[in-house]
Amino acid sequence: MSILPIVTWPDPRLSEMCTPVGQVTSAIRQQAEDMLETMYDAPGRGLAAPQVGVMNRLFVTDFTWKDGQPDPQVFLNPEILDASSTLVETDEGCLSIPGVTTRVARPDRVHFVWTSLDGARVSQVLTGFAAACVQHELDHLNGIVTLDRLSPEDRARAEEAYSA
Ligand code: ZN
Repeated sequence: MSILPIVTWPDPRLSEMCTPVGQVTSAIRQQAEDMLETMYDAPGRGLAAPQVGVMNRLFVTDFTWKDGQPDPQVFLNPEILDASSTLVETDEGCLSIPGVTTRVARPDRVHFVWTSLDGARVSQVLTGFAAACVQHELDHLNGIVTLDRLSPEDRARAEEAYSA
């Protein structure tokens, strides 16, 4: 296991589309382990591959460890099958934009599918914090950061806070 350096915005890798993961090889398992260790060390509750400079469709989360219940999860080739039309605003931080919290509106409920490390396709309806978190991480795999989801005014304010 090793802690990987985290890529920070505006590194161009954070604006790139990531490629699908093929076979779940030992290298993929190692990547997932290192990313979990890096996420816990940061500390954060989600980390996507491009944030450690690996351009594939893999992210890791742990929604509850900060509340004392560790639940590490690895998502390969994740997709949203369906999303509610009800949007909810959440204050989101990002390990690649340290010190900046942004208020982002997203569907409050998503039907999410992904491949797990044992190669099985998993399907689950996620709500609340988990729903916001997986959408944030999936955005990273599509080259989108929180700043891209803000109005021009809010973005300018957030960028100013970031560079200050
Ligand atoms: Zn992020």
